[in-house]
Amino acid sequence: MFKPRYLLVLTALLAGSTPLFAQSIDQTYNAKIREYTTDPRFLPASVLDLSDDPVVPSPLKHFGQITGTPGVLHHTTEIYGYFKKLAETSPNVTMQPVLMSEEGRPINLIVIGNEDAQKRLDHYKKQLALLADPRKVNPADLNKILGDSKLVYYLNGGMHSPEMGSPEMLMELAYRLATSQNEEIKTIRDNIIVIINPVSEPDGWDKQVDWYYRYSKNKKEFADGSPSVPYWGKYTYHDNNRDGLQMSQAITKGLLKIYYEWHPVVSLDLHESLQLHYI
Ligand SMILES: [Zn+2]
Repeated sequence: MFKPRYLLVLTALLAGSTPLFAQSIDQTYNAKIREYTTDPRFLPASVLDLSDDPVVPSPLKHFGQITGTPGVLHHTTEIYGYFKKLAETSPNVTMQPVLMSEEGRPINLIVIGNEDAQKRLDHYKKQLALLADPRKVNPADLNKILGDSKLVYYLNGGMHSPEMGSPEMLMELAYRLATSQNEEIKTIRDNIIVIINPVSEPDGWDKQVDWYYRYSKNKKEFADGSPSVPYWGKYTYHDNNRDGLQMSQAITKGLLKIYYEWHPVVSLDLHESLQLHYI
């Protein structure tokens, strides 16, 4: 994919912005994170290091607000619009189509890894496919394959549409993984391929966002008895995560397509229960 990064870098240099290799921290973003976090106990210091990249836009620069801003949610097209911008500006990000939902919305996969990973995605997929099938591997070759493999870590967001944190959060996480010069994040970027399905049920997500703006945004009490959106997906509601045998829904077909294409070593499916975020 063509990435006009060098043109953007040149523009940034001519504009006299931050030197490329002395990454600064975005204190405006940090201040908003502090402001919107309801208790300091929920805010580890490691979160307050969002980079101020001169080329790749943060969610704040792209949307005008940080992810998690109270009262703000984004439709699927806006979320993929942001990821498209990440892919255009960062050599560490690509976006790939998976399939279309029942109502014609795309499901896309975001792939994050260093430039070596991006250049050799097919090679790394092949290595993990070998490791996933012992019939194809000679035990004598195992260490050679392991030495030339990268772990794939899969994050799945938005399976249950009223659990609304993950499609928003994953935009900020992707930005951090793509841009941070923090040693820990660089180690992840250099050694791991992170794949993100940010809105695995796009039909449900868009209905839920519409419902939120129309009915839920002004709720004062969480448990005031008002209903959530009556139906999210075209055909299924909360039980879309029990479609593993029938595989009748686009969400399930998308998950399995990703699984068999990438053979992720770790999969994290992001859900919520009430105010608690769990996995
Ligand atoms: Zn759930």
